[in-house]
Amino acid sequence: MLSATVSEQAGHWYVSVLVEQEHVVPENTGPVVGVDLGLKRLATMSDGGTAENPRHLKTRLRKIKRLHRAVTRKVKGSQNRKKAARCLGNHYRTVAHQRTNTLHQFTSRLAKTKSVVVIEDLNVAGMLKNHSLALAISDVGWGTFRRQLTYKAAWYGCRVVVADRWEKSSKTCCRCGWVDEQLTLKDRTFRCQHPACRQVMDRDLNAAKNLEQLAGSSPDRINACGEGSAGASLWTGVKLPSLKQEPNAFSASA
Ligand SMILES: [Zn+2]
Repeated sequence: MLSATVSEQAGHWYVSVLVEQEHVVPENTGPVVGVDLGLKRLATMSDGGTAENPRHLKTRLRKIKRLHRAVTRKVKGSQNRKKAARCLGNHYRTVAHQRTNTLHQFTSRLAKTKSVVVIEDLNVAGMLKNHSLALAISDVGWGTFRRQLTYKAAWYGCRVVVADRWEKSSKTCCRCGWVDEQLTLKDRTFRCQHPACRQVMDRDLNAAKNLEQLAGSSPDRINACGEGSAGASLWTGVKLPSLKQEPNAFSASA
């Protein structure tokens, strides 16, 4: 055991214990999968599977807004205000736990059952500046998704490939490579206009399949300014998780 950290969140106390252990990375013979992250749906996978987004925060938002008002109405420094603040904190904590739990289940499933997971390099910080998307994005927890997936992949012998230029995976036909420059966020179906192809597919599934194809390009080729297959030229750079042994941190609530 290396260390233990005590923390407090909304009146609940936690101890995080950092331990060092021998860890043998298992052989992972699972398939390659592309994962397209979304707002309406948490994720669409290139094998057709989906992960629904429970949108915990949104369903509780009205209640939380009401509790916020309740706090500000109480006299500063009063016992009633403290009580109201504690109630509000409890709601936030519940939302945070539900969200983390959903993501943990999904990222564990991916890391254990897939040998390669290709995801988009979403500029989460930049997108959070767009206020109409900010709540939905922070509710989904994309940043947390990537962080969890990366460390779990190292545990379970899975490789995470991060593709840049996320919008191209949506605009390119996964079958023939035709690019629909007119595609907007509102278009939920991808309709290929190439006369020899004419593929019609769910927009997110098309994006996920493009991501999956990217795994076939060797990381070196993509890093070397993206020459090679048509798919690989759309993206620049692949970041691989460090496979160095790091001490695993486990959290335990006390
Ligand atoms: Zn096509």
